[in-house]
Amino acid sequence: MRSSLKIGSVMGIPIKLHITFLLILPVFAYVFAINPQPFGFSGVEPPLTRYALSTLTAVLLFVSILLHELAHSYLAMRYGVNIDSITLFLFGGVSSMEEMPREPSEEAKMAFAGPLTSLVIGFVCLFVYGNFITPNPALAESPVFLTIWILGAMNVVLGVFNLLPAFPMDGGRVLRALYARKMSYVKATQSAAAVGKFFAILMAIFGILIGNLWFPLIALFIYVGASEEERSTQASVTLENVLVRDIMSSEVVSVHPSMSVEDLVHFMFENKHMGYPVMEGGILKGVVSFTDIQRVPTLERPVLLVSDIMTKGIISIPSDGQASDALKLLSGRNIGRLLVIDNGNLVGILSRTDLVRTLKLMTE
Ligand SMILES: [Zn+2]
Repeated sequence: MRSSLKIGSVMGIPIKLHITFLLILPVFAYVFAINPQPFGFSGVEPPLTRYALSTLTAVLLFVSILLHELAHSYLAMRYGVNIDSITLFLFGGVSSMEEMPREPSEEAKMAFAGPLTSLVIGFVCLFVYGNFITPNPALAESPVFLTIWILGAMNVVLGVFNLLPAFPMDGGRVLRALYARKMSYVKATQSAAAVGKFFAILMAIFGILIGNLWFPLIALFIYVGASEEERSTQASVTLENVLVRDIMSSEVVSVHPSMSVEDLVHFMFENKHMGYPVMEGGILKGVVSFTDIQRVPTLERPVLLVSDIMTKGIISIPSDGQASDALKLLSGRNIGRLLVIDNGNLVGILSRTDLVRTLKLMTE
């Protein structure tokens, strides 16, 4: 994913910044700079100090979000879940893990670790602030203590907000874990998602009644997140007992590496698939998809070859693999199709469309 930038790694987990995050950070810094105390630094002079403090506070706020995510990841790793990376987005952080622990008590602890971390950071900051300010109220004006106060307040809000029992917040996961003790995982997800949606609707109505548009906006985010989680859980559980070989296409249409990109475009129109394995003399060389073509300017298409634009890193799955694992690979790497390879031989191709079709058939 080129839309995010890796900045380092902690506990062996790559930490990435998403492009939306790089855009929102200056916005946060600016909001801190123009807001009056106690939620900003607009009274601080000279302007250079004001903006430096605002930027520092925005950065520290996102460090807090990173710590929240790391707490989730730390417990997940202890329960044997692989963490691919942590990405900081516009709305906070996302830990990308291969799967959630299915053991309800493990999922509950993992979900709770994030908000707990935020609350601890928040209360420590507020405690330090209170301890220094009470004997010496003049310090409340000092920029350093203002920063501590803002960080404290924001972390408490972050912790409490994430404990709301609604997907996609951490509280939604805790709730699902509680439900999952009494019912199946899919049912538990549906029930927790229903609570999340109900909550989102109440929140939207409340916001409209008091005339604050932030509430409907956050409510929409919660509603979409709840539906998304419901769908993806249902999909992976449904596909768990399906084998790749039963749903893959075994008639593999391949292309030659020396085909020109222009010819490939025509070939795609005729064959109606959006991606093909690239084969030469029975040997698999790579994969080429419509996305690869889109990166080539029209004028260069007659001169470039398939071998120039194909992806060489091949992501594959064996034919006796589970369809649910295929789904994880496809969505985790954001690709459209997987090659099915047994003992070095290409035996089929499994596309997102194949999975979607199977899901439709099985859930109807
Ligand atoms: Zn969290």
